[in-house]
Amino acid sequence: MVYTSLESPNNRDYDYELHLAHLYGNLMNTYGDNGNVLMLKYVAEKLGAKVTVDIVSLDDDFDDNYYDLVFFGGGQDYEQSIVAQNLPRIKEAIGRYIENDGVLLAICGGFQLLGQYYVQANGQRIEGIGVMGHYTLNQENNRYIGDIKIHNEEFDETYYGFENHQGRTFLADDEKPLGICLYGNGNNKEDKTEGVHYKNVFGSYFHGPILSRNANLAYRLVTTALRNKYGQDLNLASYDDILSQEVPEEYADVKSKAEFEK
Ligand code: GLN
Repeated sequence: MVYTSLESPNNRDYDYELHLAHLYGNLMNTYGDNGNVLMLKYVAEKLGAKVTVDIVSLDDDFDDNYYDLVFFGGGQDYEQSIVAQNLPRIKEAIGRYIENDGVLLAICGGFQLLGQYYVQANGQRIEGIGVMGHYTLNQENNRYIGDIKIHNEEFDETYYGFENHQGRTFLADDEKPLGICLYGNGNNKEDKTEGVHYKNVFGSYFHGPILSRNANLAYRLVTTALRNKYGQDLNLASYDDILSQEVPEEYADVKSKAEFEK
């Protein structure tokens, strides 16, 4: 049964409301991925939106008209194989949500399962939901683990993270990468791509979680969801207004964000 796991506090007024679905949140939540949900909620509240987070899991329906944001986190092969068996029942609704420009962030196992298929470390192939074109192969006795930095040309943004996966993902022709690797392995170590960007779906192998380290991406996801719901010309506080000044106290003497990231 769908249940609410988090809600914005009631002690203030909000201009907007966002409904976030955390897909299989009780199963797919490795390496701090749940932090992405906290970050989406945090940024949304800064922009004046009240957020409700629902866990949509095994045997639940996904209401693509109700949700404004979706998060699908990573999982170990075992959890992933359970989720894979359950996914076909929400395939149509998820496909509709994506094609109607719904905002979705998928990490690692979630990213893999949105695609055609995923080959587990033991060589067993499990089917993805097949709403996106990418597919994932395995590798022999190896995982890609370590720091990674990518650049997204379209947005001219750089994202920093930590990858941890055995799967090697290959994108379809209609899928762009989330970024090109400046260092790290990325999707497959061969073509320098990392993650995926298709319509308003963003996928990545970054754990840790990706959004707390890359607030610019969190801002992009939340503002896209708000404009989808309230109109493309919605006037919202800028990234600089609400997020760029948030430098931890110990770095308070660092002059600019650019300097901070060097
Ligand atoms: N089981 C998948 C892999 O190793 C995904 C793991 C994860 O979500 N970190 O590729």
